[in-house]
Amino acid sequence: MDGTAEGGQDTQGAVRARDAQYIDGRWRPAAGGGRIDVVDPVTEKVIGQVPAGTAEDVDTAVRAARAALPGWAATPPAERAAVLGAVRDLMVARRAEIAATVTAELGAPPAFATAVHTDMPTAVMGSFAAIAAAYTFEEQVGNSRVFQEPVGVVGAITPWNYPLHQVVAKAAPALAAGCTVVLKPAEDTPLVAQLFAAILDEAGLPAGVFNLVTGLGPVAGQALAEHPGVDLVSFTGSTAVGRQIGATAGAAVKRVALELGGKSANVILPGADLARAVNVGIANVFANSGQTCSAWTRMLVDAARYDEAVELAVTAAAKYVPGERLGPVVNAKQRERVRGYIRRGVAEGGRIVAGGPEAPDGMDTGYFVRPTVFADVAPGTTIAQEEIFGPVVVLMKYEDEADALRIANGTVYGLAGAVWGADEAAAVAFARRMDTGQVDINGGRFNPLAPFGGYKQSGVGRELGVHGLAEYLQTKSLQF
Ligand code: NDP
Repeated sequence: MDGTAEGGQDTQGAVRARDAQYIDGRWRPAAGGGRIDVVDPVTEKVIGQVPAGTAEDVDTAVRAARAALPGWAATPPAERAAVLGAVRDLMVARRAEIAATVTAELGAPPAFATAVHTDMPTAVMGSFAAIAAAYTFEEQVGNSRVFQEPVGVVGAITPWNYPLHQVVAKAAPALAAGCTVVLKPAEDTPLVAQLFAAILDEAGLPAGVFNLVTGLGPVAGQALAEHPGVDLVSFTGSTAVGRQIGATAGAAVKRVALELGGKSANVILPGADLARAVNVGIANVFANSGQTCSAWTRMLVDAARYDEAVELAVTAAAKYVPGERLGPVVNAKQRERVRGYIRRGVAEGGRIVAGGPEAPDGMDTGYFVRPTVFADVAPGTTIAQEEIFGPVVVLMKYEDEADALRIANGTVYGLAGAVWGADEAAAVAFARRMDTGQVDINGGRFNPLAPFGGYKQSGVGRELGVHGLAEYLQTKSLQF
């Protein structure tokens, strides 16, 4: 059925907020009376309310997921794939609605909301429909028959930065594997998660296979991570919360996948096409207002071409006009956090060459931050080490390749990165020495089938493609 709440008034219009939890195949009233305001980051106006779920809601959802598990796990992979294919088709059909919802709750400019926030998760959903249909869930190894079986009930906890992509990157492989799911989306962006639940419902996913509990992290999120009926917790968000979830899962000897922060390096080797490397690098950082875990927030340039790179970066940054190409950050707390980092960068000796901590001219409303470029940043300083999660890039100078590698690898993170070089083989050799999970060579395109995930404190496990599917499978062997 479609998402009509049984327990309250829904917001109607282009963007819809449902005053209900999606559990066991229907929208039902939340156990508690608490509500979360959903705010448009451009207007700062409340655009809807969703339930602040409680441990009771989580428990009901986990029970529904457990009850649905045997049936879904036993459903032939081709049938599971067919449902995911139907979901993908509905995402295509409801493209405008999805994009409008992400624009409303995240503030993403409409073109970006469509091309990235909508089309990327739609492609990912399609990729898992194809993978589920073709995957070898059973093979003969010598005298053994080896089976890939679903891990069980998945507790998925997602952040706001790519609100639908983060959900699909967990739900699609989990469902493809035969797992059932309880999702706790970010409190700032629950509406597209509700829309996604309505789409799964419309696609005919059996009751209880996917469940949605909106709520606050320390309440609903923690209850989900701690629930004994959850077999695997998949979390994307801050390293601080990820560490806590990892510890909880470890104590219960429960599978865990963590996709955490990043401070990725964009390494421009001598001889690279500097203008292209800088332009693509700036676009990479300022996309989504800098709220991308894999953003190349540290640009490393050789000393001989450093000044030229700074000039190019300033010119490129000027194109990111707040309120036009550059959207706001998600909420007031993030805006203050990002501005605080900019002030700290100045205090620690960084030179602002574009942007700054003040509000953009004439923009009193909206959680906007000026696109900010720092030059002369020392590698050990706070803004060169910590994830800022806003439109801020630091340019650093290196003396030789060994110096560049030392700086590139000199943070606790290792999620992504880029290498630019005239000699592709040399760029690849450099990338192989980077302690990071994913590197784009000379502007290589995003690949929804490539494994995505972190080295070091950027996380545990991989998302997307067959590697992403494997996270949700466990192996059994029968000997004959
Ligand atoms: P969090 O890590 O707090 O939030 C991510 C998700 O975890 C949300 O659904 C959140 O709920 C939930 N959560 C929060 N606390 C708990 C808990 N104790 N137990 C279980 N779940 C919990 O990130 P923030 O939104 O606070 O962002 C802070 C910083 O984290 C950013 O500035 C950025 O540096 C980093 N971050 C990294 C992301 C990435 O993609 N790697 C994504 C988002 C943030 P709720 O929404 O209610 O808080």
